[in-house]
Formats: sequence, C-alpha cells, structure tokens
Amino acid sequence: MSHSFKLASRQSKHQNSEIQVGNVVFGGTKIIVIAGPCAIESRDQLFEVARSVKLAGVSILRAGAYKPRTSPYAFPGLGIEGLKILKEVSGEFQLPTVTEVLDIHSVEECGQYSDILQIGSRNMQNVNLLKEVGKSKKPVLLKRGMSSTVEEFLLAAEYILSSGNPNVILCERGIRTFETETRNTLSLSTIPLVKELSHLPIIVDPSHATGRSSLVVPMARASIAAGSDGIMIDVHPDPQSALCDGKQALTPVQFTQLMNECAPIAKAVGRFL
Ligand code: PEP
Ligand code: MN
Repeated sequence: MSHSFKLASRQSKHQNSEIQVGNVVFGGTKIIVIAGPCAIESRDQLFEVARSVKLAGVSILRAGAYKPRTSPYAFPGLGIEGLKILKEVSGEFQLPTVTEVLDIHSVEECGQYSDILQIGSRNMQNVNLLKEVGKSKKPVLLKRGMSSTVEEFLLAAEYILSSGNPNVILCERGIRTFETETRNTLSLSTIPLVKELSHLPIIVDPSHATGRSSLVVPMARASIAAGSDGIMIDVHPDPQSALCDGKQALTPVQFTQLMNECAPIAKAVGRFL
C-alpha cells in the first residue's frame, strides 16, 4: 500500500462504494442534492425551506440543531428541540435528513432524529468522535477539516471505516488560504484526486466553501463538472435575517435556478440530478 490509509484506499476496493440512505444512493449515476438552512431556527422556518427544496427536487434535507460557532455569543442552535422539528419535517415531506453531531455524547441522540450524521470541519480530527460514529450504523457525512490535507481527510475516514462503519460520504467544503474575499478556497482538484485515491463517494459544499451566495451556483456547476457525487447547499427563506451564515444562503427562488443550471452540466458528464 503506497498510502497510510487502507480501507479507504482505491487499492483495497476497486469499485466505487455506493452508500444508501433510504431510497437515496450516493456514488451512483444520480447526483445527490442536499439542501436546507445552516441552522434550524423555528418550526415555520424549516417547514418553509423543506417545502421549497422538495419542490425543486432535492434528495436530502440539511439543518443543524447543534452549531459549532466561532463565537460563544453566536446562535448555538436549538439543540434537542431542533432535532424534534427536523424529524417532524422529515416525515412530513418524506425527505431523509443530515445534521451535525458535535460530540460523542450526542451521537446516539442525533442518530435517533436524523438519517445521516455530519462530522463538521472543526471536528474532522476529533478521533474519539470519529470512532464513536464508526460504531454507529448510521451513514456519516465527513467534512474536510479547513486546514487538512487530502491524506489527513482520508485518514479521518479511515478511523470511521476501521471502527466498523463502511458508510462514509466525504465532503469537500473549502480550505483556508491567504485569500480573504471568500470564506474558504474551494479545492476543486480534490474531487478527481479523491476519486483516484479512494472508492468513497465525495460531495461538495460550495456554500461554506465560498461564504458568498453569488458564488454558490458557479461553484456548484464546477463541482458537478469535476465529478462530484453531490452538492450540499444552504437555503434560507430570508437570508438577511438568518441566525447563521446568511451571507452564503440562497433564497428558494435562487435555489430553483441552481437546480436548473446544474441539470445540463450533470447531463454533460453522463449523470443526472
Ligand atoms: C455546516 O455544514 O453547517 C458547517 C458548520 O460546515 P463546516 O463544518 O464545513 O464549517
Ligand atoms: Mn454554516
């Protein structure tokens, strides 16, 4: 083995892994679109977003109940109340969900309310958390650490795989560079590189990668052109009043436009949305 990761490696498994979440398959021909607000703010807010993204054709609803905010004074999420809203909305619109799990103590709880457990960028090297979700049966969406190399990213996936959970979906969400105009710098080459090195599916989050709503559609298009298995997009009914990450959120109308613009790109690379 030429790399330090083994189970995640393309050499250990030549065929692409397909990760199933209900009727949704990551790593197949269909490009999986995940959309929703950064944070669950209220029942009304999540219902409104879910209704609009369902109409636009998304496969999975995203929404955070526990938010790892940079400032201790920022909105930390609704916690368990948010998880209950997420489950209710998921049932109402028949949309599987993904939500971030912040620590080892909330893995079981989040797993009871959501279909996919998200490991955030700030926790990519929290090895105890990686091992804990590795013991869970739930699929895991592993976001790239903002200062992590691709090898470190795949080694984080290796922790989950080697703890017994083969259902890992990788997510490129941009890395820290000297650039300050964008929140992070989207590393597009990571997509085909990960495809070379690993059999795991990889999706892209252009919302957190850019931090600017005007850049989300072009970067979503580019991600699909580069071979991404999916995209994850922040959508908010009123981005200006969002309690978290409003600058990068698309309105439902802008999101529908994104779907329309991405469909022909998917077709051009032999896939569909
Ligand atoms: C998120 O997706 O809500 C999030 C906090 O993203 P990241 O961990 O990539 O910063
Ligand atoms: Mn966010």
